[in-house]
Amino acid sequence: MGADRKNNIPTPTRVEVLRLGHRPDRDKRITTHVALVSRAFGASGIHVDTKDPKLERTIDRVNGQFGGDFTIETGTSPRSVMNNFGGTIVHLTMYGEEVDNVIRDIPGGEDLLIIVGSEKVPREVFDLAHFNVSVSNQPHSEVSALAIFLDRYFDGRQLYMDFPGGEINILPDGRGKTVKQGDDIVTVRKRKGLFERRWGEVPDPDECLEILASAGCSSIVIKHSRAVYDLGMDMVHRSLEVAGPSVHGMDIARLSAGLLLHDLGRSRTHSIRHTVIGAQLAEGIGLHPDIVAMIRNHVGGGLPAAEAVELGLPDMDLIPLTWEEKLVSHADTLVGNLRRRSLGKAVERLEEKGAEKGVDRILALHAELEGHLSIDIDPLVDG
Ligand code: SAM
Repeated sequence: MGADRKNNIPTPTRVEVLRLGHRPDRDKRITTHVALVSRAFGASGIHVDTKDPKLERTIDRVNGQFGGDFTIETGTSPRSVMNNFGGTIVHLTMYGEEVDNVIRDIPGGEDLLIIVGSEKVPREVFDLAHFNVSVSNQPHSEVSALAIFLDRYFDGRQLYMDFPGGEINILPDGRGKTVKQGDDIVTVRKRKGLFERRWGEVPDPDECLEILASAGCSSIVIKHSRAVYDLGMDMVHRSLEVAGPSVHGMDIARLSAGLLLHDLGRSRTHSIRHTVIGAQLAEGIGLHPDIVAMIRNHVGGGLPAAEAVELGLPDMDLIPLTWEEKLVSHADTLVGNLRRRSLGKAVERLEEKGAEKGVDRILALHAELEGHLSIDIDPLVDG
């Protein structure tokens, strides 16, 4: 694969890589990665200057499994590779000319030898190369330099190359693994996306867990959400035991959904903006506005507009107002990652994060909820 860059005409160019300074004991992984990048991003073969049968076996195994006829030769003399090469030689070095300037001058249709080093590269390599090319003038790595150079050289087309003859062929899939093995297509963990399904306005707990998974929340976020739900429901049950059904006056179905879905936005980001992003997602899939509000207003016992703006959130009060919103927010405060924690620990944590302004709010919420539910929350979270 190749291209006449001026006329953008694809031409059959053979690209080879020469890896200098390979030390099998120290560079095992990095040279393997140089070879894998060469293979995956359009080169036809690699020469490695030190004999390394294990490396050869690894690359042959990858060829067998994923296809293509990429060649590897180790223990080759760099000088003989360079002297016998009948095309254009490019040496990647931080001291070279900028890649974007040079790439236009590399003649299309010529075979190409790309040289990458490890430690110090001998002076004669700079002389023998037709082009000494830098991928920025900062030091980084042969793997990144090679990948970026090949991407520029092939104009991104190398990402869509065919690798015929492999045992398996991976098909693009944003949510699971889809693999073609012979004539069989095997899909693992394929789940419909959040917006590809219809959800109830007030989803039950199983449906909420499906929503979290379909949105792409990690298993840790889902475990945390369950822990917040368990604590919130313990508070409700305790209130029912001691005060009877009339006291709390909350909509338990919506509350359950709010407890489970409060971190829906963490499917997109772990920044504080997960609150408003989660609320947008919830709105987008048609959840009840009360649930949307529980998601939007759950963080840090609530945020007045001025604080919200300082944190990069919209200019609006994000304060839990209903009892359901307050309970979701406070249950979240009293569950660290996965474990319940005392009010004192939660306060300490807020202080450590520099969110002192939230301390008074969560102390007030704690007292308010205890009064409203007629319960003592501390035994539910201590020890
Ligand atoms: N002093 C070396 C040099 O001349 O670039 C840096 C050694 S670096 C650990 C190993 C190899 O990574 C280099 O031989 C070069 O092939 C490649 N490399 C590192 N940074 C590069 C850059 N900014 N541009 C091009 N190649 C780079």
